[in-house]
Amino acid sequence: MLATGCRLLHSSGMGRLLAPLTGHRGLVFTLHSVRPQSRMHGFAPNRHLTVTPEFLERTIVQARAAGLRIVSLAEALDHVETDDPAAQRVCAFTFDDGYRDNLIHAYPVLRKHEVPFTIFVTSGFVDRSSEIWWEALERIVRGASSIETPIGERMRTLDASTRDGKVRIYDRLLHWFTKELGEESQRVELRRLAAVHGLDLAALADELILDWDELRSLCRDPLFTVGAHTHNHFALARLSRTRMQDDIAAGLERLAAELGVTPQVFAYPYGFEAAVNHQSQEVVSQFNFRAAFTTHPGMLERKADRFAMPRVSMNGYFQDAAIVSQYLNGAPFPIYNMLRRIRDGVSLRRTCS
Ligand SMILES: [Zn+2]
Repeated sequence: MLATGCRLLHSSGMGRLLAPLTGHRGLVFTLHSVRPQSRMHGFAPNRHLTVTPEFLERTIVQARAAGLRIVSLAEALDHVETDDPAAQRVCAFTFDDGYRDNLIHAYPVLRKHEVPFTIFVTSGFVDRSSEIWWEALERIVRGASSIETPIGERMRTLDASTRDGKVRIYDRLLHWFTKELGEESQRVELRRLAAVHGLDLAALADELILDWDELRSLCRDPLFTVGAHTHNHFALARLSRTRMQDDIAAGLERLAAELGVTPQVFAYPYGFEAAVNHQSQEVVSQFNFRAAFTTHPGMLERKADRFAMPRVSMNGYFQDAAIVSQYLNGAPFPIYNMLRRIRDGVSLRRTCS
């Protein structure tokens, strides 16, 4: 929906016309994995989380050409508070979870263009004690011809021998993991599936996630900021208040112990509505963060709630300059968010009736 709206706004020229009203103070981009295209063929349900280094570079150049100043997250927050409406708009780049390819493929691009950046680090992934489950699930389903799971409280064998079968199973397991199982039960089931299918979860984390030495080397670069992203990457809204506090505190303790840093910024794991509720915002606000970021799409505005800051996700399916141009001028987000509110209102009424 967002991509279609962006293309319409671009082709009609409406986005450019609306920019003075919708551009506000600028925006913060969310990225995850950055790696070349060649590894993205076939069954790749997490492809939306991956962009190429070339797309990252084109976006940096495009943002500057559109008149935005690329700044650190701290400077972006300063900028939100400025009183000068004529001040140059800003853009910040953030990377969630701590993928190793951020160092291998994104960092050379960021360095070349002197772009400040933040990585929101999930400390349990770096410790190899917590599971980057969506990547693990992809590997399990890709390598299996069938999968036996207790979905629906009885063991079922699901066919994974074809690409369509793999897509169906992944979607079913994704729903089960994120809507039906609790956050901790989800990891228990993932570990069971990994053991059955011979996937070494620690080796997967070694392959995909930065280690502490690599993060320490990044910390020597003034372009780099460490952000907090909890220890286990649980959806906070699905936890009790105490478990939320524990997971945020554990993440901070590990970052302090390994990197000697106390992050000023936090990103909610997943960051979308189902993972961030009023209670999780309240709990996060009790820590000494300057701001906490969601993945609700939107622009930086003075009136924004500092513990529900918007970000704009770079989606691997839409690595397109026309779409980025609309992200930069902010035109799609008021319409998109209004349509989402209407949809959520309709589904809430249906649920209550
Ligand atoms: Zn994350």
